Amino acid sequence: MYALELKNINKSFGDVHANKNICLQIPKGTIHGIVGENGAGKSTLMSIIYGFYEPDNGEILVNGNALKINDSCDAIAAGIGMVHQHFMLVENFTVLENVLLGAEDGAMLNESLGKARKRLEKLEEEFSLEVNVDAIVERLSVGLQQRVEILKALYRDAKILILDEPTGVLTPQETKHLFKILNILKEQGVTIVLITHKLQEILDITDNVSVMRQGEMVAHTKTKGTTREELAELMVGRKVRLKVDKSDSEVKESLLSIQNLSVIDHQNVPRVNNVSLEVKAGEVVGIAGVSGNGQSELLEAIAGITAIQAGKIQFAKEAITPEHPISPDKIRKLGVAHVPEDRHKMGMVTKMTASEAAILGYHNDKTYNGRILMDLKAVEQDCAEKMQRWDVRPPKPELKSANFSGGNQQKLIIAREVEQNPDVLLIGQPTRGVDIGAIEFIHEQVIKLRDAGKAVLLVSVELEEIMALADRIVVMFDGQIVGEVAAKDADELTLGLMMANAAGNEDNQQEN
Ligand code: ADP
Ligand code: MG
Repeated sequence: MYALELKNINKSFGDVHANKNICLQIPKGTIHGIVGENGAGKSTLMSIIYGFYEPDNGEILVNGNALKINDSCDAIAAGIGMVHQHFMLVENFTVLENVLLGAEDGAMLNESLGKARKRLEKLEEEFSLEVNVDAIVERLSVGLQQRVEILKALYRDAKILILDEPTGVLTPQETKHLFKILNILKEQGVTIVLITHKLQEILDITDNVSVMRQGEMVAHTKTKGTTREELAELMVGRKVRLKVDKSDSEVKESLLSIQNLSVIDHQNVPRVNNVSLEVKAGEVVGIAGVSGNGQSELLEAIAGITAIQAGKIQFAKEAITPEHPISPDKIRKLGVAHVPEDRHKMGMVTKMTASEAAILGYHNDKTYNGRILMDLKAVEQDCAEKMQRWDVRPPKPELKSANFSGGNQQKLIIAREVEQNPDVLLIGQPTRGVDIGAIEFIHEQVIKLRDAGKAVLLVSVELEEIMALADRIVVMFDGQIVGEVAAKDADELTLGLMMANAAGNEDNQQEN
């Protein structure tokens, strides 16, 4: 008998067949991984199990009993708990209040509060959650907020716990702690479903793994005995190189020099605090850090999008100072290209066609302009060629940007920036939401640019990506650079400690 079994689950959204005849069997007390590229149908499947979506047909069995799960109350009653990718906590409530919110005897009377507190503290201790029940949620780190979500599920007696991409927002230390908690839960007989796109995590913690591709389950296997390469191939449907080939960098003159830079936001909060940094021709400098520590603001300041309050950003020919801002347009003309972190907000306008998006920011160039109006033919032709060179699928310049997958949108944006042959490339989260196959391609292009003697400044929350691409790694915390290492000397744990600004002491990172 399985803790959870799915039989022939189908779910369509209009034309999209998100789940096709899904069958899945998860033995009690195991950790079961589910991997798949973006859009493979993982979250849809989990939402069906948790009662957010109704399947078109198919069966869900919990402990051998077929159940109809109409909403999350049904799921909770069946002993299913879910830790969402975006937490659903009330920020200005305490941990205790959040856990009790919506629970059966939720009346916040003193007597039941006292009982609940005891029970929570017991759970916390038993599962090594290390959260203070009286802490205000918004003051907790992301990792601790996630544990509050786990606590919430356990308080409701979850025997099956689903975690959808739980580690995306965590530092390596927080991930390690999460895995420790999951292992304790497993020992106590809890069944865990872990969705992640990080193949190493699957190998590190799961007992079995299922692979989804384009709405289908394409493989189930014991984790022992499989490899990252094998899983990647199953996910994509072809062989994938997971490592970037690169030689040692040949570093030349400085192309970007930042001195004592400070950026203060609208609320008067310093986002970038006295940062100095140099990027030279022929090197990739990676900025690591938990997102929200000033990396984005730094990149935007260099691109001329955000004003600076102190310091200097020196390009080869000109410098930005507080008294002398330079417009993003002009900065592009100085040979600085920018692939923004947020594709949808800044990288492209999704209502535009691909061919319009492919020249955004460069639309005043001579090539694209007739005597009075834009030369639409030239624009489309240019886009078609880019699509060919960059393997953008489908290769249709007239299609709306929104209709391309994340990976193909990103390839188009990077094509636009890289093909300007910039001296400096600023690139933020180059592969966020991008499939493994496209990641391989994008990484190769970044290294190509470096090898052509250009300077690359990379911001990424994926340590694996930073370590694969960068020659030098700096770590940002709270607006400041708190450390620098040569990539060849870097490992995830050391970087993780720097990212949490907690040199050697795991407890320091608990609250910040
Ligand atoms: P994953 O979690 O594996 O990245 P999802 O389950 O989120 O994939 O999505 C699977 C497919 O279903 C995608 O093509 C997605 O665009 C589509 N999809 C998911 N949710 C909806 C929805 N509410 N409406 C329409 N399409 C959806
Ligand atoms: Mg998902």
